[in-house]
Amino acid sequence: MSRETVSREMASYADVRLFIDGEWRDGRDGHHIKVIEPATGNILGRVAHATCADLDDALAATERGFNIWRTTPAFERYKIMRRAAELLRERADNIARLMTLEQGKPLAEARGETLAAADTIDWLAEEGRRTYGRIVPSRAAGVEQRVVRQPVGPVAAFTPWNFPINQVVRKLSSALATGCSIIVKAPEETPASPAELIRAFADAGVPAGVIGLVYGIPAEISAYLIPHPTIRKVTFTGSTAVGKQLAALAGEHMKLATMELGGHAPALVFDDADVEQAARLLAGSKFRNAGQVCVSPTRFLIQRSVFDTFRQHFVAQAREIRVGNGLDPATTMGPLANERRRPALEALIEDACRQGATLELGGKGIEGPGYFFEPTVLSGLTPAMKVMNEEPFGPLALLIPFDELDDALNEANRLPYGLAAYAFTASSKTAQALSDRLQAGMLTINHLGIALPELPFGGIKDSGYGSEGGSEALEAYLTTKLVTHLG
Ligand code: NAD
Repeated sequence: MSRETVSREMASYADVRLFIDGEWRDGRDGHHIKVIEPATGNILGRVAHATCADLDDALAATERGFNIWRTTPAFERYKIMRRAAELLRERADNIARLMTLEQGKPLAEARGETLAAADTIDWLAEEGRRTYGRIVPSRAAGVEQRVVRQPVGPVAAFTPWNFPINQVVRKLSSALATGCSIIVKAPEETPASPAELIRAFADAGVPAGVIGLVYGIPAEISAYLIPHPTIRKVTFTGSTAVGKQLAALAGEHMKLATMELGGHAPALVFDDADVEQAARLLAGSKFRNAGQVCVSPTRFLIQRSVFDTFRQHFVAQAREIRVGNGLDPATTMGPLANERRRPALEALIEDACRQGATLELGGKGIEGPGYFFEPTVLSGLTPAMKVMNEEPFGPLALLIPFDELDDALNEANRLPYGLAAYAFTASSKTAQALSDRLQAGMLTINHLGIALPELPFGGIKDSGYGSEGGSEALEAYLTTKLVTHLG
């Protein structure tokens, strides 16, 4: 099937609206923002644009919503959330289609993301029932000392376009599980699938005002919401540069913040590992979602004696990738999600090649409509090259040989990022050294084992702070109150 044919057959896409105080509506100024289909470059639809007056409505509603939701019993909240998860599962096929249209990823990945979101809701809903406090034995007779966990208050969440649902669901479910209300500023480029996530919660019975959904100019919305006295917590996923600005604003106004930012993940392969298996798993991980993943492996540090073997297997895997429209079942890698990623990637590749890097595969955008890019593999790299320092956020793999463990660790830890890291080794001594010394928020050894709802997910250093999975996810939405009572 041609890209155009596939899109025409499946491309019904309704305008996306704001969700404020339990109602789907347009912005007060009636303006809309275009949504582009990355597989064709055509206009797919429109999303409503929120003005400051709309944000005021959303803020007033979230304040009311918080007062309702915080006093809703945890067991009731849990039941409503579980219902939302079920609705998401029932609607997964349609939601996946919308996500593929607006984001570009293959349908199977979009469906997988939707179903994984349902599992995330289930897990966080369950965990919300276990938000225990504690009693501390007192020094004086008749005194009871209680440590109470309370929801922090209304949350402002800002999420990007690479995982349109997954990035929202972690924040939304953690907020709801702890009794917070939330205003989500979802991505304007991929607005329909996160709107369907919110619809599932609304249809499941979340009261009006508890969830708000807005779109607009991201910088204007964050500048308005973060300092607003109603908002008590800020959570953002996106680039390190923007994250630092938003964290500074949150700090200035004493708001709790979770920042899930960029990465440049190292993947270390030692000569005692199953090199073929490592190449297969890592290539699958690298090119998933066309590499537009904050935890995507990027610097492949390969012990020199197995470098050529790894390179051959990795490049062979990358050659197998079928680039095409995500709606076509044969496609294994869709287009980049937006036009600006193409020149950004080409500039990094050009800079590396000018400085002597070798192009093992790919290297450029694919001619024709849409934002398609070749799976690309580079070797012969040096630390001075831009691509060795800047997050490529695309289907680009960097192969780098190393000699000793310390050399690999030095390169892995050289960058200010510290999000995910990958390693393949049969030696428990090496694994132990990596777990002690690798500067990363998440390390997965001999398999791909991160990003499950029950596990912490987050970075250190310039990759941000706070965690979006595991019981830590709920901590970020809770305050601690001491009540000491002489009865
Ligand atoms: P960008 O920095 O302009 O935007 C990243 C995200 O932040 C977008 O969703 C955008 O809407 C939002 N954003 C930007 N400025 C904002 C502001 N002032 N207030 C609130 N939200 C704001 O970059 P981009 O071109 O969209 O994406 C490219 C880079 O962003 C990538 O190289 C990658 O580093 C990063 N990114 C990271 C993730 C992630 O999962 N951590 C996801 C998407 C993008």
